[in-house]
Amino acid sequence: MSLSERISRIKPSPTLAMNAKALSMKEQGVDVISFGVGEPDFDTPKHIRDEAAQAMEEGFTRYTAVGGILELKDAIIEKFRRDNSLSYERDEVMVSCGGKHVLYNLAQALLNPGDEVIIPAPYWVSYPPIVILAGADPVIIRTGEADDFKLSAESLETAITPRTKLLVLNSPSNPTGSVYTESELEALAEVILKYNIWVVSDEIYEKLIFDDRPFYSIAQISEKLKSKTFVVNGLSKTYAMTGWRIGYVAGAREVIAGMTKIQSQSTSNPNSIAQKAAVAALNGPQDFIQSMLQAFDQRRKYLLQRLNAIKGVHCNLPIGAFYAFPNFSYYFNAKTKGISIKGSADLCEHLLTEARVALVPGIAFGDGDFVRFSYATGLETIGEGLDRIEDALGKLV
Ligand SMILES: *Cc1c(COP(=O)(O)O)cnc(C)c1O
Repeated sequence: MSLSERISRIKPSPTLAMNAKALSMKEQGVDVISFGVGEPDFDTPKHIRDEAAQAMEEGFTRYTAVGGILELKDAIIEKFRRDNSLSYERDEVMVSCGGKHVLYNLAQALLNPGDEVIIPAPYWVSYPPIVILAGADPVIIRTGEADDFKLSAESLETAITPRTKLLVLNSPSNPTGSVYTESELEALAEVILKYNIWVVSDEIYEKLIFDDRPFYSIAQISEKLKSKTFVVNGLSKTYAMTGWRIGYVAGAREVIAGMTKIQSQSTSNPNSIAQKAAVAALNGPQDFIQSMLQAFDQRRKYLLQRLNAIKGVHCNLPIGAFYAFPNFSYYFNAKTKGISIKGSADLCEHLLTEARVALVPGIAFGDGDFVRFSYATGLETIGEGLDRIEDALGKLV
């Protein structure tokens, strides 16, 4: 049987694939420690769950407006005003089934075959396939540890061609935890306006920033820049609501209308009950986030200290999100029992079988010198996982 040509151009999400592998080992009774998952290990706060239960009881169980209920759009508008000093009208915002779905709709509404989309690496695994599924071409720009994995205005300008349509920014970043400062964004903004390209700013980890560092959205730079920016955000990470599938976007109304049209012919509205829960999340008490952040911070500090104590390993201090992205290239070309480790994929495979530790290889994020650790797991588990990794690496070289 032959499937569509488009399907052969993409691979399944490598992070989800790693999870599946670890899960099947667990089902066979192997005690796998997972640093693979990209979701908070906390429960959705009670007041949000209560709102959903009430919505269900009250029969809020039918189709809603395709792009989201007005109550939720208004809560999103208020969130942008309150947190980011950005003002939007109702027809400039839209709700989809998660941030990932927002990005998919945006690519479908904006991109044509032949268009180029600039994606700085390391990148979130879904950006390139989403671009490819829209028929456009991802243009990957590698960044390095020395720049804390942040795109410079110079490398952006070098990558721009007459075909460039869109730039993807993600701050705080998955997988590196890097956060752009206001002045770094200003430098990028100059290039963006000079060449009049669109920007999508994935701000899903906005609330997960440590050491009281400020969050700054590129849309805040000027009205002009705001009109070229699609701000993407969602409930998954901030409110521990990954399974509820609510994400949202704000940006140019013509494009939002196009995205709504695509959504109307594909998924229709996001889940009605989850939309009610999202209103409660955005309008309700926010103190839950602070306690989650404190737990993440404690784990971050511990994990970093352990990683940097491993021979040959170096890891920049992540400023946001709940990931660390250490360089493990010291162990490449190491040989054990006739196995040779050529890159991050081999190393992760080896650590899964030998140390029973699940990680995601950096190659999945566009840089094979690294490995991604998610620290959305308890301190003790992190300690045990690192002990196992140290043991297994010790046998390698
Ligand atoms: C988790 C994540 C998303 C979106 O997740 P949804 O559950 O679809 O809202 C988007 N971007 C990045 C970088 C993420 O890590």
